[in-house]
Amino acid sequence: MLTSTTRKISNFVSKAEFEEIKKFAADKATPFLIINLEKIAQNYDELHENFPTAAIYYAIKANPNPRVIKLLHKKGSNFDAATIFEIDKLLDLGVSAERISFGNTIKKEADIESAYKKGVRIFVTDSFSDLRKIARRAPGSKIFFRLITEGSGADWPLSRKFGAHPDMIYDLIIEAKKRKLDPYGISFHVGSQQRHIGQWDNAIGQVKQIFGLAKHEGVNLRAINLGGGFPSKYLQPAQNLKIYAREIKRFLKKNFGANMPEIFVEPGRSIVGDAGVIVSEIITIAKKSATSETEWVFLDIGKFGGLIETTDEAIKYPIFTERHSRDLREVILAGPTCDSVDVLYENFKYTLPKKSREGDRIYVFSTGAYTTSYSSIEFNGIPPLREYILKHEA
Ligand SMILES: *Cc1c(COP(=O)(O)O)cnc(C)c1O
Repeated sequence: MLTSTTRKISNFVSKAEFEEIKKFAADKATPFLIINLEKIAQNYDELHENFPTAAIYYAIKANPNPRVIKLLHKKGSNFDAATIFEIDKLLDLGVSAERISFGNTIKKEADIESAYKKGVRIFVTDSFSDLRKIARRAPGSKIFFRLITEGSGADWPLSRKFGAHPDMIYDLIIEAKKRKLDPYGISFHVGSQQRHIGQWDNAIGQVKQIFGLAKHEGVNLRAINLGGGFPSKYLQPAQNLKIYAREIKRFLKKNFGANMPEIFVEPGRSIVGDAGVIVSEIITIAKKSATSETEWVFLDIGKFGGLIETTDEAIKYPIFTERHSRDLREVILAGPTCDSVDVLYENFKYTLPKKSREGDRIYVFSTGAYTTSYSSIEFNGIPPLREYILKHEA
């Protein structure tokens, strides 16, 4: 349930911060994303404090801005890369290959070879075909086997497409050993913005069983990769990270006791999500007929400009204007492009002050993750989402 309290702006930004954002944004043409590096540093520290023994692999697809990568690199983060392009970018920015995991299970053989030649030694797999490619092109590498998860409870699920069932994982482990790879650990992703913490319990329980079966075959798995899925702050309430960490550590302890494996985490959203705000402008306010109750509010940003996670209204961003008013109306929010898919929220009703006018600025909070990286190139000639850095790291 989204109550009027969970929709309050003070849940997302302090008065002073909002003033600072407005001031910074004032002379810039919309739409654009403002990134607060200080907040990213805090989010990283908070994750590290809550999982002090875990190796953190930032999933760079969430926000691949070089400044973000450099900051996290300086703070000691490792990186999860999905493609050879991301790997090359990381290497160009001075990240050493030992700190990169090639986490995508869908890889070209040539890219595996290229990554290996550049020094990458951690690969994730979930199929025989991919495993054979790795064995051929990246001999002796450390292999994580990705377990399939349901994804239920997640606002942006990653289920079905990734991972294999436990019996196939077992077969893959045996095959990896046979092919002289180093079967290193089990990974999973419970779905992005996962709001059911129990999903980690289910996955960790299965990992424990796989560890046991592997041991029978003389394979000593040493690591568990808990994936991403940690929360950012949107309208639908989620527990805070402290509670996630407390529960997940309890599940780990229950299953592994004194034989705790190495722990990896692969956060994207929880590191950068609430460190960004998109500044947009109302282009048009319109009704579809003279008697219609609902108003359409067209913004200068939509699904193709970076807000693709509004698909099926999955992620509900906190959206506010500069106008202070208790006199509100429900609206349909839509993007500016010539594609009817480009509607942001129609079933879930956002409210705007009745006094809202064309030209008013709209602030879409918690948009630091999966926005610039998703924004399209030249659809309707609109340039990719611009990004400014507001707060520099200390
Ligand atoms: C996208 C992705 C992540 C990051 O997930 P978040 O939910 O954004 O934290 C982690 N691992 C893998 C393999 C991913 O594809």
